[in-house]
Amino acid sequence: MSPNPATIDLARAVERWEPVIGLEVHAQCTTRSKMFCGCRADYAGLAPNTNTCPTCLGLPGALPVANGEAIRMTVLTGLALQSQIPPRSKFDRKNYFYPDLPKGYQISQFDLPLCVGGWLEFEVAGVERAVRITRVHLEEDAGKLVHPAELHRADFSLVDLNRAGVPLMEIVGEPDLRSPQEARAYLVALRQLLLYLGVCDGNMEEGSLRCDANISLRPRGTEALGARTEVKNLNSFRILQRALEQEVLRQAARLEAGETLHPETRGWSEAEATTVAQRSKEEADDYRYFPDPDLPPIVLEPAFVDALRGELPELPRARALRLRQTHGLSAEEARQLTQLPGEADYFERTVSAGAPATLAANWQVNELAGLCQRAHRTVESSGLPPERLAALLHLVDSRAVSAPTAKELLAEAIASGADPADLVEVRGLRQVSDEGALAEAVDRSIAAQPKAARDYQAGNDRALGALVGQVMAATRGRADARIVTRLLQARLPRDPGP
Ligand code: ADP
Ligand code: MG
Ligand code: ZN
Repeated sequence: MSPNPATIDLARAVERWEPVIGLEVHAQCTTRSKMFCGCRADYAGLAPNTNTCPTCLGLPGALPVANGEAIRMTVLTGLALQSQIPPRSKFDRKNYFYPDLPKGYQISQFDLPLCVGGWLEFEVAGVERAVRITRVHLEEDAGKLVHPAELHRADFSLVDLNRAGVPLMEIVGEPDLRSPQEARAYLVALRQLLLYLGVCDGNMEEGSLRCDANISLRPRGTEALGARTEVKNLNSFRILQRALEQEVLRQAARLEAGETLHPETRGWSEAEATTVAQRSKEEADDYRYFPDPDLPPIVLEPAFVDALRGELPELPRARALRLRQTHGLSAEEARQLTQLPGEADYFERTVSAGAPATLAANWQVNELAGLCQRAHRTVESSGLPPERLAALLHLVDSRAVSAPTAKELLAEAIASGADPADLVEVRGLRQVSDEGALAEAVDRSIAAQPKAARDYQAGNDRALGALVGQVMAATRGRADARIVTRLLQARLPRDPGP
C-alpha cells in the first residue's frame, strides 16, 4: 500500500511549520430545565418550536431566572479541572444578530466566569500531555437553524427554538496543543471527564458536545503566535482531526506562497472534505458585552464550593490507576475499562460478584465489548447483569466449561437475554475433564487414525491436532483439550531418535 499523498504533504508541512491549536468546547448540561426558564433542557424528539416559553423566545417583559443546577455542574467541572472558583461571578449580554438568537443577545459570561485556570492531563500515543484551561463559563445555547443543504450553499433556513436557552458550558483551553492528533486526544479526555462528572451526555452527533478549533502555524523554533483560524462546530472526533489537518495544509501552502494570513472564521464542509471561509473574525468589542441587568451577580460561598469538591467522583485517571493497583490489570486494560464510567462500574461489579479480576477484565475487553458494539448496546444495556458474567467466568475458571463454549454462550446471552450459566446446565455443556470418561474417546481416536498416531510418534507434532480434534468432535466440543492432549501424549510415546 502506498502512503496517502495528503499524509506525505502533512508530514512535510509540519516539518517546517509548528501547528498551535486551542479548543473551545461547548457542552450542554444534563439539567432538567433550561438555563433561564422552566422549559425542558432535553428537547430530543420534540416537534420544532414546541419547547419554548416567553423567556427563551425573548418576548418583551419576560425575565430570566438562573438555573442553580447548571451553576453547580459548571463549578463541579471547574473543580475537576483544577480551576480557581472566584467568589463572585456574573452574567453578561453578548450582542449579535443571527436568526437563531431571538433576543438579539446571548446571556453568557464575559470578564467574571465561574471557573478560571486549571489544566487537563491526557495521554496521546503513550505520551503524557497537559493542556492549561483558560476558563469555564456558563451561557445559554442558541436555537437551531435547519438548512436544506450545507450552510454556505443554502438559499433559505428554518428556525427551531427548542434548543434556545439550554445551559451550555464553555470550556476554553490555552493554545497548548501541537498536532491534530493531540487535539483529538484532548477532546476524548475532556468528554470522558464530563461523562464521569455526569454533567453532559457527550453526544457529539446530536450536538450536546461541540467543539470550535483554533489553529495557527508558526515556523518551527519560533515563539510568536501566528494569525488563527477558528473552525466552527466540529461534531465528531474524526472531523476535528481532519479539519485541523486540512487547515495545516491550507495555511502552510499560503505561508509558503508568501501570503500574510488574517484571523478568520471557517466551517467544515463534509462534501468538499475541507474547511470553507465564513467570515473574518470578530473581536470582543464587536459584541458590546455588558452585565445583564435582569440577573443578580452569582456569589459562591466557600462552603458551597467545598461541599462540591467533596462530591467529585473518582476521575478517570485515578480510577485507571486504582484498577491497575488493586486488580493487577495492565495499563492498556485499565485504560479500556475506564473509558466510560459505566464500563468501569460493570467490571468492578463482576469482580465483586466473585469473578477473578484478570479473567473479568480480559473477557469484558476482548469478548463482551465487541458483542455489545455489534448489538449497538453498552455493557449496562447488554441484558447481561455482571453477576451472570461472573457466574459464567467462574465456570471457565474452574474448567467446568471450555472457553470456546463460554464465548458462544456469551454471544447468545447478549442476543437473547438468557443466563449463560443456566444454559450450561440445561444443555449439559459442562466440560468433560474426568480422565476416565475421556480415556475411551482417546483410545477410539487413536484406533480410527493409526497413521496420525504413527506420524506423531515419529516426531510430527501437527499430527496430534487431528487426534485431539476427533476427541473434541466425539464429545461435541465438551472435552477439556488440555487433558485430551496430555492423555494422547501418554498413550503415544515418541520414537527414540536415531
Ligand atoms: P474567541 O471567542 O474570540 O474565539 P476565546 O478566548 O473564546 O476567543 O477563544 C480563544 C481560543 O483560541 C482559545 O482556545 C485559545 O487557546 C485559542 N487561540 C488563541 N490564539 C491562538 C493562536 N494564535 N493559534 C491557535 N489558537 C489560538
Ligand atoms: Mg471562539
Ligand atoms: Zn423557555
